[in-house]
Order: sequence, then C-alpha cells, then structure tokens
Amino acid sequence: MPTLSYLASLTNNQELLSKRPRILVVDDQALNIQTLYQIFSEDHDVFMATNGPRAIEFCQQTPPDLILLDVIMPGMDGLEVCAELKRDDRTSDIPILFVTAQNDALEESRALTAGGLDFISKPVNPDTVRARVKTHITLKLQRDLLQRLVFTDPLTGLANRRSFDNSYDKEWRHCLRHRHALSMLMIDIDYFKLYNDHYGHQQGDHCLAAVAASLQANFGRPHDVVARYGGEEFICLMPQCELEGARNKAENLCQVLMSMAIPHSESKIGDVVTLSIGVASTVPDETQTRESLIAAADAKLYEAKNAGRNRVAA
Ligand code: GH3
Ligand code: MG
Ligand code: MG
Repeated sequence: MPTLSYLASLTNNQELLSKRPRILVVDDQALNIQTLYQIFSEDHDVFMATNGPRAIEFCQQTPPDLILLDVIMPGMDGLEVCAELKRDDRTSDIPILFVTAQNDALEESRALTAGGLDFISKPVNPDTVRARVKTHITLKLQRDLLQRLVFTDPLTGLANRRSFDNSYDKEWRHCLRHRHALSMLMIDIDYFKLYNDHYGHQQGDHCLAAVAASLQANFGRPHDVVARYGGEEFICLMPQCELEGARNKAENLCQVLMSMAIPHSESKIGDVVTLSIGVASTVPDETQTRESLIAAADAKLYEAKNAGRNRVAA
C-alpha cells in the first residue's frame, strides 16, 4: 500500500494529512468517555455521544474518521448501532472499534460479525488503544485518498467519468423510486480545438480547469453532480429539478462563462471562450434506460452547436 504522504502528493491533498483525525466516542458512562477523551484529545478532535441514536445522527451529519463504540448501553446497544451504520451508504465506511468490559469470546465474535474492526477491553490500556486507533485511522485515510484518486479527474479536480457513472446510477434509482424529475446538462466548449492550436495545449489545460471551476462554483445543491465527461465536455446531473429549472441554470452557466472573458481570438463566434449546452429532463420510469437521458442531452447539445454555438438548447 502506498504511503499516506505519497497518495496525498498525487491528489494535491496535503491538507488531508495535516487535518486532525475526528474520533467519535460512544458510551453511556461519562467517566469512560472522559478517559478516552484524555487519551486522544491532544492529537484528535474527539466528539462524544452517550447513546446509540445520537451517535447515528452525528455520523450521518458529520462522519468521523473512526468510532470507539461501547457494546453495552441502555436502549440501543453497540451491536445495533454498528449494524445500523453499516446499512447506510453514508456511514458504512466508518471504521468501528468496540470497547467493552466483557471478556467473552462469543460477544467478541458477534461484535466482529456486526462489522466492528477490532475489540478493545475496558479498563483500556492507553498505549494499546492509541496504537490500534492509529493503525485504523491510517488505513482509513489511505482509503480516502485512494478513493479520491480513483474518482477525481486530475486536471480539473472534478468528478471523473467513473464517479459520474456511480452517482448517475444512484440518483436514477432514487428518482425512479420517488417519481422525481431528473435533469441533465451536456456542456461542450466551443471551438476548443482552435483554442489549443492557437494558445497551445498547456494553456488549453488551464482553460479547461478554469471552465471546470466556474461550473463547480455554480452548483450548490447536495445531490447535484458536476463531472468531466470527456476531453472538453462536462456533464451535470440535477436531481429533483424540472426542465425549466435546468434550462435556467444552463443559461446562467453560459452567461457566467462569457463574463469571465477568457480570450479566444480564434473563435468564429466572438473573442472569448463560450459554451454550448444541451438540456434534457425526465421523470425516470421502468420503461426508460439511463442511456436515453444522456442521448437526449447529447442530441440537444448538437442542436445548440448547429444553431450557432454559445447557447442552450432544451
Ligand atoms: P465545437 O465547437 O464543435 O465543439 O468544436 P471543438 O473544436 O471544441 O470540438 P472538437 O471535438 O473538434 O475538439 C475538441 C478539442 O478538445 C480537441 C482536443 O485537442 C481538445 N481537448 C480534449 N481534451 C483536452 C485536454 O485534456 N487538454 C487540452 N488542452 N485539450 C483537450
Ligand atoms: Mg455501557
Ligand atoms: Mg467543443
């Protein structure tokens, strides 16, 4: 496994290394929480929850890098908390270490089967718990960085095609289940070959990164997805958004890019870099395929190109 700092250098994510790992301690006894807090607070941000439901809510909202989880608690016990966290996509990757007073082989095997990674006995030995936590946090950060490498386009920092395919699948199924509208923008830079030919490939790369940043900055809703689809093509997914809303967003993106005024002396339609955008929208049902929405957005993009570029077709 490559080292953390090597992975961080590949992903331009040095800040991930310097950030303090976040640990959630879950225990119904304040004294136990305090003990673990004292062991970890110097090098970690330590959060606490005194019951299962609170722990789950915390993890859904602000997932920690690791959980130290008491087994025996009134109401929801540690095993149930663990199982619940493993069921939810948002929380299933958080490493869980059980902390328990019991010294029972059966209990230990149940905890590990529930998805716990390790088992620490109370009263805790500070050196042991520190060492185990360090191991698991290192693995977790390595995994986070690898995931970033796999799903990020290195030039623009946007989601790449693989990441888009994953998100699209998830959002399609969600919209299908809830009968929500799902809109898509297919975005292409106008006369970008001429841009490269004139300004050089490196300047072309800078331009792509600037366009990507402007697209990203204009999407704020949590389930919206902006990705690099191909060379100078970008794709945006807007769940729970109707055609009209998507068209307005596309018009806005064209305006914003024009106002950035990136010089393009070779463009046949002006002297700055512009975009053409195809917009399509549907309420997914069982008769449609995911490809059909992409094909519709693509067809609209070609309509926008043929109608003169620097415009939206919906
Ligand atoms: P149109 O207005 O019809 O879209 O014309 P166009 O020139 O933009 O389209 P075309 O498909 O002919 O050319 C796309 C260009 O995008 C060609 C390629 O050199 C450039 N390109 C694709 N990927 C990259 C990249 O990663 N970096 C740079 N600098 N250029 C790229
Ligand atoms: Mg307890
Ligand atoms: Mg183009």
